[in-house]
Amino acid sequence: MTASPRYKRILLKISGEALRGDAPYGIDGEAVDRLAGEIAEVQESGVEVCAVVGGGNIFRGSSDAAAGMERATADYIGMLATVMNAVAMQHALERLGKATRVLSALPIAPVCEPYIRRRGQRHLEKGRIVLFAGGTGNPFFTTDTAAALRAAEMGCDALLKGTKVDGIYAADPEIVAGAERFERLSYLEVLSKDLKAMDASAISLARENDIPIVVFSIRKKGGLAAVLDGNGPFTIIS
Ligand code: UDP
Repeated sequence: MTASPRYKRILLKISGEALRGDAPYGIDGEAVDRLAGEIAEVQESGVEVCAVVGGGNIFRGSSDAAAGMERATADYIGMLATVMNAVAMQHALERLGKATRVLSALPIAPVCEPYIRRRGQRHLEKGRIVLFAGGTGNPFFTTDTAAALRAAEMGCDALLKGTKVDGIYAADPEIVAGAERFERLSYLEVLSKDLKAMDASAISLARENDIPIVVFSIRKKGGLAAVLDGNGPFTIIS
């Protein structure tokens, strides 16, 4: 990595999918270790790192597994799934010697700290990695929205959304060969073209708070460090 990373404080959104590796569901130790390594690398370059961890590898409120269940109940199960993922990620980061705190919007005292904005800021100032769990703490939301919310609360310079592909494309590149990747998009273009990079409430929140969103591939080795170096490929929404 270069000596002058592009952003000083970042919020990384890690979807639950990234933690399952090649398994159909659940937490894959190797995948978590690899992600922890990527995070540790950028933290060592002096970047303050916090992350929102999703839960889709375990449970989604809108999934088939939740069919017949009251939506709010299903969503609380989804939020609990994000806590499991965050604790697994904390373990992997601590094995790399990185002081890491999990702050959960759903208080689970023996497992992690409750989310307190000033405490999160303090941890970041002290150079700790902060993992935000429990989403927003409210049903009917997603961890994308939690990511935009926490990025605003922590005063982050950018929200980095790690996905399966290296940016936003005009069509699904896994289906349409040669689909065009956008270098840069405005928040309104993403919303009006319904580009599905993140959900609309997350995009709106980032727009209101002037936080750029960088969509990049979390699967590619060194992908996160490359974003901090300003090297693509990625798509910037600003
Ligand atoms: N969830 C919620 N409120 C939030 C964040 C998450 O109810 O603020 C629930 C919701 O059911 C969601 C699940 O937690 O489906 C897991 O989060 P998400 O689907 O965003 O995870 P990801 O897709 O990033 O793995």
